[in-house]
Amino acid sequence: MQTFSKLLYVCFTIAPIIFAYFVKIKKKESIKLYGQEKYYYKNIFLFYTQSCRDHLIKLKPCDNNCPQNHLILLTNFIATAKQSISICVLTLQLFNIFEELIKAHHKGVEVKIIMDREMIGVNSPKLQKLGRIGIPVKTQGENSCIHHKFCIVDEDDKASAKMFFGSMNFTLNGMLSNYEHITLTNDYRITEKFTKEFNALWKEFELI
Ligand SMILES: [Zn+2]
Repeated sequence: MQTFSKLLYVCFTIAPIIFAYFVKIKKKESIKLYGQEKYYYKNIFLFYTQSCRDHLIKLKPCDNNCPQNHLILLTNFIATAKQSISICVLTLQLFNIFEELIKAHHKGVEVKIIMDREMIGVNSPKLQKLGRIGIPVKTQGENSCIHHKFCIVDEDDKASAKMFFGSMNFTLNGMLSNYEHITLTNDYRITEKFTKEFNALWKEFELI
C-alpha cells in the first residue's frame, strides 16, 4: 500500500513538474530558433483588378492592392541582381520585366531565360531583341509544356540568393484578370533546389 501511495505521489506531483520542465525547454528552443530566423517569405495574392489596367500601363499605382505595386516589387527585386538572373516561365510578356532584364544584362548580370516552346511565337519580337543583345533563351522539345513560373536572383551567392515563384505568368492577364499567388523568399534551402532544377533544364534544352 505504501508503494502504491509513493507511485501516486510520483504520478500526480513529481511527474507533472518534470513534464512541464521539458515542455518549457522545448518552447524556449523553438522561440530561440524563430528568433534566429534569417529568411523571409513574402506572399502576394492577385485577383481580378481590370479597373487597374490604366495604373499598370501608366505605372501609377492606386493603393496597396494595385497590381502596379506588385509589378514594382517584382521589377525592384530583379533590379537588385548583381551576378545572375535565371527565369523559367511559360510566357513572359510584361514590358517592365523585359526592360529590367535588359538593364541587368547591360550591367554585366548573367541573364538566362527558359520559356515554353509554344509561347515563343507570341513573344517573338521581344525575344529577338533579347537575342540581339546576347541574352540566351532556351526551350524544351516537342509535345511538352514548360509550366514553371520562377525567377532566381544571384543563385550562386548563398548570402544574397533569392527568388520568387508562384502561379503567375509574367503577363498583363496574370496581373489583372487572374487569381494568382506569388511567393518571394531568400531561403537558400529553397533557392538552391530551384537552381539545381533550372541548371538541369538549361543543360537539357536548346537555344531558340
Ligand atoms: Zn490600381
